[in-house]
Amino acid sequence: MSQLQPVRGTHDLLPDEMRRYRHVVDTTRAAAECYGYLEVGTPIFEFSEVFKRTLGDTSDIVTKEMYTFTDRGGETITLRPEGTASVARAFISGGLAQHVPLKYFYSGPMFRYERPQKGRMRQFHQTGVELLGVADPLGDVEIIAVGVEVLRRIGIWDRCYLEVNSLGDTESRKAYRDVLVSYLSGYKEKLSKESLERLERNPMRILDSKDEGDKEIVANAPVYSEHLNQASLDFFSRVLEGLEAIGIPHAINPRLVRGLDYYCHTCFEIMSDELGAQRTVMGGGRYDGLVGIMGGPETPGVGWASGVERCMMLLKEEPAVRRPIALVPIGDEAEREALILANTIRRAGLPADLGYSGNMGKRMKRANKINARVAVILGETELAKNVAALRDLDSGEQREVPLDSLIESLAHYQ
Ligand code: ATP
Ligand code: MG
Repeated sequence: MSQLQPVRGTHDLLPDEMRRYRHVVDTTRAAAECYGYLEVGTPIFEFSEVFKRTLGDTSDIVTKEMYTFTDRGGETITLRPEGTASVARAFISGGLAQHVPLKYFYSGPMFRYERPQKGRMRQFHQTGVELLGVADPLGDVEIIAVGVEVLRRIGIWDRCYLEVNSLGDTESRKAYRDVLVSYLSGYKEKLSKESLERLERNPMRILDSKDEGDKEIVANAPVYSEHLNQASLDFFSRVLEGLEAIGIPHAINPRLVRGLDYYCHTCFEIMSDELGAQRTVMGGGRYDGLVGIMGGPETPGVGWASGVERCMMLLKEEPAVRRPIALVPIGDEAEREALILANTIRRAGLPADLGYSGNMGKRMKRANKINARVAVILGETELAKNVAALRDLDSGEQREVPLDSLIESLAHYQ
């Protein structure tokens, strides 16, 4: 029987949940389009190298979360754990560098072998935007603005807050790295095994450790913002000025770092306290080195990814549904007529429901069950007069309407 269960960490989207899912994704797409971000789709699997090279050998994703397999042709393939690397790969393989700036939106399933818990799955979904070819801090401001607008339109921004930080440029990173390593080296005995491994290769990642012991050590670590060079500080103030200009509330969190190696300058997260332990709804930042690391032409980039399931968890109201029109024929002749009528109603673009059998009582029950707005009742008397009885299922009122103007009458209920 276990074969008939969904795989651990995966989830079916049945209609009610699919409606919420679509509300989140469709709203995100529409908001992104307002800012000029065009939808792209990349394959859900790539050569493993695409992720290995870009996410870094020490990232959580590469070290323990990737779904990797060898296909029948002997290629090493990975189900995508995130979208940015794929978009950058598409940018390079499509030779798109000459067309920058480019603005892309994507959405779809992502795969990570994680310990499943509330808000954390093995197949989950993300939406994301990427702005390629813009080095100016205005790009960072725009990216954050799209993110906030997305959450506002979805209806959850009032329960979220934005934190920003700067990871500086290459020079600042180098300087801070040395300071950090010398601080952390004093705690070699206490650091988790994982962090100890990162101490040499990627010490900045230790700031992002989820280990409680590490967190205590990190709490007193030197703060990055005190080690930023002037160019990085200037860049960051222009981002902050931009956010203020368009009235986006934000807090600076000097401890905020992103899990992935390729970020520089701006990084940000949008969180909600209503989500429990997995608080982050959206995370993003600037990744100027990424396209170059992948072997493409040096191209600055900035973007974010948002967890669709986490957005769904924050939804308070059910998305609006179009309520159907229920056809309720009584008798053989009326059933034949209802078949034709249902077709006509649907062709006019209105949702119609016609059951396959049952007397009037059973059919009215079904009309209520599917939350129909109105019932079109067709009996012998109605047919003889070329009319239908329209019953408003909210008020219970019933009136007769001529069959040849039925569509017009029904349109009022939409
Ligand atoms: P965390 O620190 O929670 O592991 P992350 O840094 O791995 O997050 P990102 O790679 O930045 O997360 O992904 C962006 C967003 O995608 C997250 O903020 C979250 O909303 C969502 N997300 C990431 N991993 C999962 C998952 N396993 N299940 C559900 N949503 C996820
Ligand atoms: Mg993670």
